[in-house]
Amino acid sequence: MKCPFCGELDNKVIDSRLGKDGNVIRRRRECLLCTRRFTTYEHVEEIPIMIIKKDGRREVFLRDKVRRGIQKACQKRDISMNAIDDFVEELERDLREIGEKEIPSHNIGEKIMTKLHALDDVAYVRFASVYREFKDVNDFVYVLNSLLSIGGGGKGRNGTTR
Ligand SMILES: [Zn+2]
Repeated sequence: MKCPFCGELDNKVIDSRLGKDGNVIRRRRECLLCTRRFTTYEHVEEIPIMIIKKDGRREVFLRDKVRRGIQKACQKRDISMNAIDDFVEELERDLREIGEKEIPSHNIGEKIMTKLHALDDVAYVRFASVYREFKDVNDFVYVLNSLLSIGGGGKGRNGTTR
Protein backbone atom coordinates (compact mmCIF):
# COMPACT_ATOMS: atom_id res chain seq x y z
CA MET A 1 0.00 0.00 0.00
CA LYS A 2 1.48 3.28 -1.17
CA CYS A 3 2.22 5.96 1.43
CA PRO A 4 -0.14 8.91 0.76
CA PHE A 5 2.58 11.35 1.82
CA CYS A 6 5.71 10.20 0.00
CA GLY A 7 4.61 7.31 -2.23
CA GLU A 8 6.82 4.69 -0.56
CA LEU A 9 5.44 1.14 -0.87
CA ASP A 10 6.93 -0.35 2.29
CA ASN A 11 5.18 0.17 5.59
CA LYS A 12 4.47 -1.65 8.79
CA VAL A 13 1.11 -2.28 10.43
CA ILE A 14 1.08 -0.79 13.92
CA ASP A 15 -2.54 -1.47 14.81
CA SER A 16 -5.43 -3.55 13.41
CA ARG A 17 -8.95 -3.06 14.54
CA LEU A 18 -12.14 -4.84 13.57
CA GLY A 19 -15.04 -2.50 12.78
CA LYS A 20 -18.11 -2.53 15.01
CA ASP A 21 -20.13 -4.96 12.93
CA GLY A 22 -17.16 -7.08 11.91
CA ASN A 23 -17.33 -6.13 8.23
CA VAL A 24 -14.24 -4.01 8.05
CA ILE A 25 -10.71 -4.04 9.41
CA ARG A 26 -8.94 -0.75 9.95
CA ARG A 27 -5.18 -0.93 9.83
CA ARG A 28 -2.97 1.83 11.11
CA ARG A 29 0.25 1.82 9.10
CA GLU A 30 3.55 3.58 9.42
CA CYS A 31 5.60 4.41 6.34
CA LEU A 32 9.08 2.94 6.55
CA LEU A 33 10.54 5.86 4.64
CA CYS A 34 8.94 9.04 6.03
CA THR A 35 7.50 7.39 9.22
CA ARG A 36 4.19 9.16 8.78
CA ARG A 37 1.05 7.20 9.64
CA PHE A 38 -2.05 6.45 7.63
CA THR A 39 -5.06 4.14 7.79
CA THR A 40 -6.25 1.50 5.36
CA TYR A 41 -9.60 -0.28 5.35
CA GLU A 42 -10.10 -3.86 4.38
CA HIS A 43 -13.54 -5.07 3.30
CA VAL A 44 -14.73 -8.45 2.13
CA GLU A 45 -15.38 -8.20 -1.58
CA GLU A 46 -19.11 -7.84 -1.79
CA ILE A 47 -21.75 -7.90 -4.45
CA PRO A 48 -22.21 -4.24 -5.32
CA ILE A 49 -25.42 -2.45 -4.46
CA MET A 50 -26.85 -0.81 -7.56
CA ILE A 51 -28.57 2.56 -7.33
CA ILE A 52 -31.43 3.30 -9.72
CA LYS A 53 -31.14 6.98 -10.53
CA LYS A 54 -34.12 9.19 -11.24
CA ASP A 55 -33.57 8.99 -14.99
CA GLY A 56 -33.40 5.20 -14.80
CA ARG A 57 -29.65 4.83 -15.15
CA ARG A 58 -27.86 2.45 -12.79
CA GLU A 59 -24.84 3.35 -10.74
CA VAL A 60 -22.80 1.36 -8.24
CA PHE A 61 -23.21 2.46 -4.63
CA LEU A 62 -19.79 3.77 -3.58
CA ARG A 63 -19.21 4.13 0.13
CA ASP A 64 -16.36 6.61 -0.41
CA LYS A 65 -18.61 8.87 -2.42
CA VAL A 66 -21.21 8.79 0.33
CA ARG A 67 -18.53 9.37 2.97
CA ARG A 68 -17.34 12.48 1.12
CA GLY A 69 -20.88 13.83 0.97
CA ILE A 70 -21.42 13.23 4.67
CA GLN A 71 -18.04 14.77 5.50
CA LYS A 72 -19.00 17.86 3.55
CA ALA A 73 -22.31 18.12 5.38
CA CYS A 74 -20.53 17.67 8.72
CA GLN A 75 -17.80 20.23 8.04
CA LYS A 76 -16.88 22.29 11.12
CA ARG A 77 -19.37 20.38 13.23
CA ASP A 78 -18.40 18.51 16.36
CA ILE A 79 -18.51 15.12 14.64
CA SER A 80 -15.55 12.76 14.64
CA MET A 81 -14.28 10.94 11.58
CA ASN A 82 -15.06 7.70 13.40
CA ALA A 83 -18.68 8.77 13.75
CA ILE A 84 -18.79 9.41 10.00
CA ASP A 85 -17.22 6.03 9.25
CA ASP A 86 -19.77 4.35 11.50
CA PHE A 87 -22.52 6.32 9.79
CA VAL A 88 -21.50 5.05 6.35
CA GLU A 89 -21.01 1.47 7.60
CA GLU A 90 -24.44 1.47 9.19
CA LEU A 91 -26.04 2.97 6.10
CA GLU A 92 -24.56 0.29 3.91
CA ARG A 93 -25.67 -2.44 6.28
CA ASP A 94 -29.21 -1.00 6.27
CA LEU A 95 -29.18 -0.98 2.46
CA ARG A 96 -28.03 -4.60 2.34
CA GLU A 97 -30.77 -5.54 4.77
CA ILE A 98 -33.35 -4.32 2.28
CA GLY A 99 -32.29 -7.37 0.31
CA GLU A 100 -32.69 -5.83 -3.14
CA LYS A 101 -29.91 -5.79 -5.72
CA GLU A 102 -31.10 -2.42 -6.98
CA ILE A 103 -32.32 0.42 -4.79
CA PRO A 104 -33.93 3.66 -6.03
CA SER A 105 -31.72 6.66 -5.26
CA HIS A 106 -34.49 8.48 -3.41
CA ASN A 107 -34.73 5.60 -0.91
CA ILE A 108 -31.04 6.02 -0.17
CA GLY A 109 -31.37 9.79 0.08
CA GLU A 110 -34.22 9.44 2.56
CA LYS A 111 -32.28 6.95 4.64
CA ILE A 112 -29.33 9.32 4.78
CA MET A 113 -31.61 12.21 5.78
CA THR A 114 -33.19 10.22 8.60
CA LYS A 115 -29.82 9.13 9.93
CA LEU A 116 -28.27 12.60 9.58
CA HIS A 117 -31.17 14.12 11.44
CA ALA A 118 -30.40 11.86 14.37
CA LEU A 119 -26.71 12.78 14.15
CA ASP A 120 -26.69 16.55 13.70
CA ASP A 121 -29.33 19.15 12.73
CA VAL A 122 -26.94 21.45 10.86
CA ALA A 123 -25.43 18.60 8.85
CA TYR A 124 -28.96 17.52 8.10
CA VAL A 125 -30.01 20.89 6.68
CA ARG A 126 -26.81 21.15 4.65
CA PHE A 127 -27.34 17.74 3.15
CA ALA A 128 -31.00 18.52 2.53
CA SER A 129 -30.09 21.69 0.62
CA VAL A 130 -27.97 19.63 -1.76
CA TYR A 131 -30.38 16.73 -1.89
CA ARG A 132 -33.26 19.00 -2.85
CA GLU A 133 -31.69 19.55 -6.25
CA PHE A 134 -32.76 16.04 -7.09
CA LYS A 135 -36.31 16.47 -5.88
CA ASP A 136 -38.86 19.22 -6.19
CA VAL A 137 -39.11 22.29 -4.01
CA ASN A 138 -42.08 20.97 -2.07
CA ASP A 139 -39.95 18.17 -0.72
CA PHE A 140 -37.40 20.61 0.60
CA VAL A 141 -40.10 22.75 2.20
CA TYR A 142 -41.46 19.62 3.79
CA VAL A 143 -38.02 18.81 5.17
CA LEU A 144 -37.61 22.30 6.64
CA ASN A 145 -41.10 22.28 8.15
CA SER A 146 -40.61 18.93 9.76
CA LEU A 147 -37.29 20.10 11.16
CA LEU A 148 -38.79 23.32 12.57
CA SER A 149 -41.77 21.58 14.09
CA ILE A 150 -39.57 19.02 15.79
CA GLY A 151 -37.38 21.61 17.49
CA GLY A 152 -34.54 20.33 19.63
CA GLY A 153 -35.39 16.99 21.16
CA GLY A 154 -37.42 15.10 18.62
CA LYS A 155 -35.63 12.02 17.48
CA GLY A 156 -37.11 8.78 16.35
CA ARG A 157 -39.74 10.19 14.07
CA ASN A 158 -40.58 8.41 10.87
CA GLY A 159 -38.40 9.01 7.85
CA THR A 160 -39.23 11.53 5.17
CA THR A 161 -41.77 9.35 3.44
CA ARG A 162 -43.31 10.83 0.33
ZN1 LIG B 1 5.96 7.92 3.42
